[in-house]
Amino acid sequence: MLPARSLALLGATGSIGASTLKVLRLHRDRFQLFAVSAHSQTDLLLDICREFQPRIVALTDARAEAALRAGLAQAGLNPELRIGADSLVDIAQHPDIDTVVAAVVGAAGLPSTLAAATAGKRILLANKESLVIGGALVTRAAQASGALLLPVDSEHNALFQCLPQQRPLQAAHGVRALWLTASGGPFLQTSAAELAHVTPAQACAHPRWRMGRKISVDSATLMNKGLEVIEAHWLFALDAAQIKVVVHPQSTLHGLVEYSDGSFLAQLGSPDMCTPIAHALAWPERIDAGVQALDLLNMASLAFQPPDHARFPALGLAYEALQAGPAACVVLNAANEVAVERFLNGALRFQAIPQVINTCLQSKFLSSAPQSEVAHELDAILALDSETRRFALQHIQHAFPTL
Ligand code: NAD
Ligand code: MG
Repeated sequence: MLPARSLALLGATGSIGASTLKVLRLHRDRFQLFAVSAHSQTDLLLDICREFQPRIVALTDARAEAALRAGLAQAGLNPELRIGADSLVDIAQHPDIDTVVAAVVGAAGLPSTLAAATAGKRILLANKESLVIGGALVTRAAQASGALLLPVDSEHNALFQCLPQQRPLQAAHGVRALWLTASGGPFLQTSAAELAHVTPAQACAHPRWRMGRKISVDSATLMNKGLEVIEAHWLFALDAAQIKVVVHPQSTLHGLVEYSDGSFLAQLGSPDMCTPIAHALAWPERIDAGVQALDLLNMASLAFQPPDHARFPALGLAYEALQAGPAACVVLNAANEVAVERFLNGALRFQAIPQVINTCLQSKFLSSAPQSEVAHELDAILALDSETRRFALQHIQHAFPTL
């Protein structure tokens, strides 16, 4: 048995955080939870502190600091406290940590993912947005340091399992295409007319997966699959034309690799994030994930259909951004984050989300963005991200006055 791995769980109070803790509970001898972070949910964070007693606890929203301090004192716990966004970067490169679970949501995850990549950590990557906006930077840093990027996103974890382990992929490996499966989300059967009236609660009621609110809306618009196409491009170094999306409502097959000899290798499993998390935690070994096995004999038939680009234009916008380059991907992601947040707050209609993103992608500030800097420098990425957020908010206020 190897010595226990020392883990940082960034975004511990979220949905991926909760699934990670579930797996860790089954393997306390194997993994030590050294550091955890949350944005503002102090109650959940305190529960985690009482149970796992991490050495470092980080809170990125300083407004919740007093509540956390009071709760820790009451529980008689005295971890090292770090406050503010920079604390995630410090933790990600901490010398006593070898594995970083990147489970923060949104662009806010990029600086810590990049720090972990630069510091040569084993990175369990759930935070797809950090590759969408900083893919060149993160993959280059990981290559230079020897950091291991292990995908936790279920489709990419499936592809990782079905691809040859040697990187870069060579022509001799014969990979013709990668197929990402999409459940189709809660609105797979919803007409365009009905989509005009869907609510945040309906968008977050995903038929197969229990996830955070932002990714739930992304799944409903199919932007999640678009972000995943870009994520796959950076993880596996294949062109947009080789990364395909197929709707598979049962969510039993998570990803398929198509080879030149006509073989398709697929990974199947229950739709439960504990499987990819356990896989990435233990890789190249395998451990119990506490997941119910697939009931093959009683499994419903497996259906596949093409995505409907007319009702769900966000997927096509993501392909366009990937073709256009890194700056367009930053704009796509930031505009999406703003539009989704507005939708969740009841201030924007569902179908306006891709419209806002498209307007940002067509805007002048994207064509004048410093393309090469955005591919190579964190500050340039974060500046374009902020600029897009400002533009998107102004555009929403102007073009979509309150509902
Ligand atoms: P979530 O909203 O449930 O949790 C997000 C976590 O990030 C929380 O701990 C929150 O406190 C923290 N956080 C929020 N804003 C922050 C900020 N500004 N700075 C620092 N921390 C912040 O989200 P989730 O569903 O767990 O998703 C996390 C990431 O994993 C996302 O990138 C998502 O796309 C990806 N992912 C999630 C799933 C899933 O099943 N939930 C599957 C695949 C990939
Ligand atoms: Mg996914």
